[in-house]
Amino acid sequence: MQEAVNQREHAFGIRERLGFWLRNDAARLLFPSRCLACEAPGVEGLDLCPVCLAALPWQPRACIRCALPLPQPAGDDTCAACLTEPPPLAACHAACRYQAPLDRLLPRFKFHGDLAAGRLMSQLMARAFAGLPRPAALVPVPLHRARLRQRGYDQALELAKPLAAVLEVDLQAGLLRRQRHTRAQSTLDAASRRENLLDAFVVSGSGGLPGHVVLVDDVMTTGATLHAAAEALLDAGVRRVDAWVCGRAL
Ligand SMILES: [Zn+2]
Ligand SMILES: [Zn+2]
Repeated sequence: MQEAVNQREHAFGIRERLGFWLRNDAARLLFPSRCLACEAPGVEGLDLCPVCLAALPWQPRACIRCALPLPQPAGDDTCAACLTEPPPLAACHAACRYQAPLDRLLPRFKFHGDLAAGRLMSQLMARAFAGLPRPAALVPVPLHRARLRQRGYDQALELAKPLAAVLEVDLQAGLLRRQRHTRAQSTLDAASRRENLLDAFVVSGSGGLPGHVVLVDDVMTTGATLHAAAEALLDAGVRRVDAWVCGRAL
């Protein structure tokens, strides 16, 4: 509990830096913030009103390896499933549960080019993760270039860029590449997701690898994509891989 309080205090410690970042955004001067969920005036430099900000489904106390909520308020910080079969991620953190209004805002960002929704998601992640140990590099989970062409932008990269700037962490967007065009994970069951991702990622960094990488993605569902990306990095010699996601689906 104390840890959660400390984390929240750390998070608000960077408010000034977030404020600086927003004050320098010329668009802010022309367009005052509006709540992306309900259109009411925004608060704290966010495109969220006070009511929707207070109602955000912030992640409760969760397993440090898979970010699923833990049943008890105290005790082990790792769930039984991760103790039995440890995932490749040393730590995994979600800003929020993937519930309203995230389940409406994130698809707007991901599939409909709503970059304001993406900026808000990134701000929420910066608040949630400000108190966590900084890695040597943030690495967005890459899209295959065919899908990038189709969509026009890479949602994980768009989340990771401002996050890296606010938290002052190196962004290494080119470290990981998707070498196979995998089928959309959302259409597959858990076993087929793993199969679909076999050898999907390749580490393309020449020179020295960062020792500690945090993977950044929008939503974590089964974790198959993040695990495949983490395994590729670990196989290449990265010592520790964590993941930070905006929404954790239950
Ligand atoms: Zn609102
Ligand atoms: Zn777990």
